[in-house]
Amino acid sequence: MIKEVLVLGGGSAGFITALSIKRKIPQLKVTVVRSPSIGVIGVGESTTPNFPRHLFEYLGISRKRFYALAQPTWKLGIRFLWGARGSFDYTFNLQLDSHYTDMEKPIGFYCDDDFKDASLPGALMRRDMAFPRQQNGAPDIHPWHAFHIENKKFIEILEIVAKEEGVEVTDGKVTGSERGEQGIAAVHLEDGRRLTADLFIDASGFRSELLGKTLEEPFESFDKSLFCKKAVIGGWERGEDEPILPYTTAETMDAGWAWRIDHEHLINRGYVYCPDFISDDQAADEFQKKNPKAKVETRIVNFRSGFYKRQWVDNVVAFGNAGGFVEPLESTAIMILCSHIQTLVDFLKHSDLQPTPTMRGLYNELTANTWNDIRQFLSLHYKFNGKLDTPFWKVAREETDVSGVQDFIDFYQENGPTGFCRYRLPRTENDFGLEGFLVMMVGNQVPYNKRHNASPQDLVTWKRRKEEFASEAARGIRSEEALAYVKHPGWQWNGDPPNS
Ligand SMILES: Cc1cc2nc3c(=O)[nH]c(=O)nc-3n(C[C@H](O)[C@H](O)[C@H](O)COP(=O)(O)OP(=O)(O)OC[C@H]3O[C@@H](n4cnc5c(N)ncnc54)[C@H](O)[C@@H]3O)c2cc1C
Repeated sequence: MIKEVLVLGGGSAGFITALSIKRKIPQLKVTVVRSPSIGVIGVGESTTPNFPRHLFEYLGISRKRFYALAQPTWKLGIRFLWGARGSFDYTFNLQLDSHYTDMEKPIGFYCDDDFKDASLPGALMRRDMAFPRQQNGAPDIHPWHAFHIENKKFIEILEIVAKEEGVEVTDGKVTGSERGEQGIAAVHLEDGRRLTADLFIDASGFRSELLGKTLEEPFESFDKSLFCKKAVIGGWERGEDEPILPYTTAETMDAGWAWRIDHEHLINRGYVYCPDFISDDQAADEFQKKNPKAKVETRIVNFRSGFYKRQWVDNVVAFGNAGGFVEPLESTAIMILCSHIQTLVDFLKHSDLQPTPTMRGLYNELTANTWNDIRQFLSLHYKFNGKLDTPFWKVAREETDVSGVQDFIDFYQENGPTGFCRYRLPRTENDFGLEGFLVMMVGNQVPYNKRHNASPQDLVTWKRRKEEFASEAARGIRSEEALAYVKHPGWQWNGDPPNS
């Protein structure tokens, strides 16, 4: 029976995992060991809506405290500077996978030429507004938001909360491990200590010390679909004339794309590129030209997209970059982390802390599904981005492997953005829903045969609906003002623990 858990790694993956296990199964002894000399990766700052849900609803962290310590900003979605139309917005609520009863077709059929104000969040994003405004002037904070959060600040608050919860934290560098009947019996530290446990969590980042190095689990690469392998990262301190944008921007670049993430006091940018088409110096040059203000710690990070075929082997389960990573275009790493840790906790509880081989097998199948979903979704981003004709983008359009999602593409191209497309997705219950896939097809203006000739009445209804969204959004509230509201000592969060 599992009694002691050792988490190797004190990055966001290590601390979220340790905290989730300790909070949900408090009888377990949970220890985090991390190496200050290795440090944390320091990227991973854009999230999806399952992240606030995990923090506040699953872990019960007080919103008031979280906002005070972690200083997040809100993200309503991603602005793609992408595709033939130049730009489109992907929000966290439904825009295209919806069909109003007073209109003839689902919304995607009306967005061929003009994909703006198709929903309230879309209309808010377009106007740089974070939320609608309530009658009393305060922000109406909807659940369809995620956060931008500085990696180091986030880890600091996680460590504080984890320690309060009873997680032990020790500094030390793991230099080796000892095999035992259940898998790993102990890890050895540089300072001579030997740490034992019944369950080992590998959250050691790209080093994947236990799953990758010690157990030598095979890695499944996504390099036929996702060609980028490096990022140059930098940023600058926000100027007074620069509004906090309530979305992540993904901008097409010569040999990849660049993110922009708006924190309260910093603007962070990163150019994700394919080194087969551009050298590090050229990428840094293009990055600097695009971002003349960027000077805060410009650096290059290497990565590979893919995952270890089994995330749970014997008594080792990997989380975060130690288990896999898919390039950051849809900010999926923390999303997958929160989702997988909830699955692991469920499995541990249901097995009375004595997980069986078949349970591990099921866990590995479920987690592999989510990795593959991300690969399929991201492959569409590359296949259909017609914004630039650089050598990289020509090859991306010609050679990106989209075979895993070809049925969906074929169906879409014959029938258009209908809700029936969902039945041609590899898995209907993926993390992006049909919505995400439709946004990529409609946003990139991928041609389809079955066009809709809307009646004049239909067009009037659509115009009226868009005007309603636009006018509510125009009365909305920007991030700066909304942050001032939630930081005010009198602000009350629904659902926070009493006296928090
Ligand atoms: C370019 C890029 C952009 C990204 N953008 C996003 C994004 O926008 N959104 C998102 O969700 N994710 C993003 N990610 C992924 C992001 O890195 C992770 O979400 C997140 O930071 C998790 O990191 P981690 O905890 O797995 O690893 P790390 O932060 O690297 O932590 C590893 C920990 O293990 C410890 N460790 C390692 N080896 C040893 C050892 N031998 N002994 C002791 N301790 C050890 C380290 O000291 C550290 O504490 C991005 C990744 C890259 C590469």
